[in-house]
Parts: sequence; C-alpha cells; structure tokens
Amino acid sequence: MKTIITGDRPTGRLHLGHYFGSIQNRVKLQYDYDTYILIADVQALTDNFEHPEKVRDSVHELVLDYLAAGIDPKKAHIYIQSYIPEVAELTVYFSNLVTVSRLYRNPTTKHEVGQKSELFGEDGESITYGFLGYPVSQAADITALDGDLVPVGEDQVPHIEQTREIVRKFNAIYGETFKEPEAVLSPNPRIKGLDGNDKMGKSLGNAIYLADSEEEVSKKVMSAVTDPSKIKKDDPANPDICMVYYYHKLLSNPNLDTVCKECRAGSRGCVACKKELIGVLLEFLKPIQEKRKYYEEHPEEVEKILKEGTAAARARTKEVMKRVRKNMKLDYFDEQ
Ligand code: SF4
Repeated sequence: MKTIITGDRPTGRLHLGHYFGSIQNRVKLQYDYDTYILIADVQALTDNFEHPEKVRDSVHELVLDYLAAGIDPKKAHIYIQSYIPEVAELTVYFSNLVTVSRLYRNPTTKHEVGQKSELFGEDGESITYGFLGYPVSQAADITALDGDLVPVGEDQVPHIEQTREIVRKFNAIYGETFKEPEAVLSPNPRIKGLDGNDKMGKSLGNAIYLADSEEEVSKKVMSAVTDPSKIKKDDPANPDICMVYYYHKLLSNPNLDTVCKECRAGSRGCVACKKELIGVLLEFLKPIQEKRKYYEEHPEEVEKILKEGTAAARARTKEVMKRVRKNMKLDYFDEQ
C-alpha cells in the first residue's frame, strides 16, 4: 500500500475551504492508502514564534475538526510534528543540500514573505532562517516517513519539487536512500469566499467554519455577495456570478436547477435564496458538529488517538533514520 503524507499548520479552525479543498479528498483516500496526517506545529511556529499559545490551542481545534469531518483514526494516523525529533535531525542533514539562493527563489515562499511584511519587513529583509528554511523541514517530514504521494494545492507544488531535488541530491551523494515523492493535485484546490474573493481564508474574513453556530452561519450567508445588477426582488439575475448560487452548487443542493431557473426568470428573491442556502448549510454541518461535540466531550479519546498516531509515525521514522545514518556513515554504534 502506498503512503500518503498530508497535513496542516495549526493556526486556526478548519473552514469550508479546507473541507472541500482537501479534507473531503483525504477522507476518501484514507481507505486506499496508508495515510499519515501531520499537524505541523513546528512549521506553524516559523511565523507564529511569538504566539505559542495560538499554535497550541489550534492543535486541539484541528484534531477535533479532522475527526468531526470524517478522518477515521483506525485508518489514518494523526500525529504531531514536534514529537518526531528525527524530522528535526533530518532537516539539519538536508540543510547542507540546499543553497540559500534556491530557497529565496521558491515562488511560494516569496509570495508568503510578501504577505507577512509586518513580520519580515517590506522587502523581506527581516526574514528568519526558520521561515526561509521551512520547505527543507517539509522535505524531511515527507521523506522521514517514506512518503509516496503528497496531496497538495497548486501553491504547494514548488515545495514538493524542492523535496524531489533534495532527494535526488541526497541519493547521489550518500547512495539510494529515499524515493522521490509525487504531488497529487487536490480536485477542488481553491474554494471561493462568500465575498467573491478567489480564496476562502481566515485572514480574509470570508470563511464559514465547520464549527460555526447557526447564528454565525446565518449572519455570514446573509452578507454574501450576489449579482449586483439585481436590485429588486423580481429582477432577473445571473446565478453564475453569485456566491450564494456557488455555494448551493458546492453543497449539492438537490433544488439546484430550480434555484438557477428562478434566479434567471426573476421569480426568486435573494433573501429567500439565502435562507434556503442557510438551511442546506446547517443540514450539511449537522453531522460534522455532532461528531465534534462527541469528541469535545471525550478528550481522553482524542489524546489516545494523537498518542497512537504519533507513536506510529515515530516508529516508522526511526526505521528510515537508521537507513539515513548508515548511508551517511553516522552509525557509530547501536543506540541504547
Ligand atoms: Fe444569487 Fe439567489 Fe439572488 Fe440569484 S436569487 S442572485 S442565485 S441569491
């Protein structure tokens, strides 16, 4: 069975963009692949190093969201990055194989640095060693578990390419040790926000979270962007440029054809259309939130899942690192 490595940075709760962009796909894949889901707390600290409490709280929220959304702990191993010290060790070895200029050229890192000017300066002049090097640590995450496939959004493809480069260089110097992992593009990599933005995101303030209450969902949907040409209730409109219709479609509203026809004919008002969407959304979130509630009330089960997932990932990593140390001639004696 091939191994999939996937995961998230714990910096907040999961929203519909995460769900339809990656989690739904992971839920499917977990039955066909040996699945490891990484909670990348070390990576989250690269740009949250002054807020360790935010990272810690988000780890808890993230696990609850995973389990609520259908990740099955009997099928997938959910594990915590900082509890796998071998990854930190491998990151050090890999750091000799990547030039600083190559890291600066990574388009995803460049883009992210531009978005974090308050932390890294207007021109990225205050970028930290840790942030610049996080793709190296990501390469270690993947290879330390002998990962075959990495489901990613398009923005993460350059990181997987960097991993493949590192693997090729490592194998050329120290002998065949790692396989080159492959990026698998998520079927729905980008989910639009309620405000019409191309991406749903926490920092953009346009997200519906899996754990949102009925009141929060209603408030957000009522403020969603619709066809601006529709002024009066009975004006005909174009559903293709309406975010409410976009979500009716995303959530597979069985009434979708009627929504479309009535919108075009001007026989449907936006308020009623939004109310219908609120109903569809709440119905969709109900089983997720019920599951979440169960796990919130059983913290001991959540801790057990995390401990077991982390132990499974560490056992596998230790085996890989024996091979690494042997090939790098660092195997002086057996560890006690
Ligand atoms: Fe959008 Fe519905 Fe209004 Fe049409 S009727 S513009 S689909 S909210």
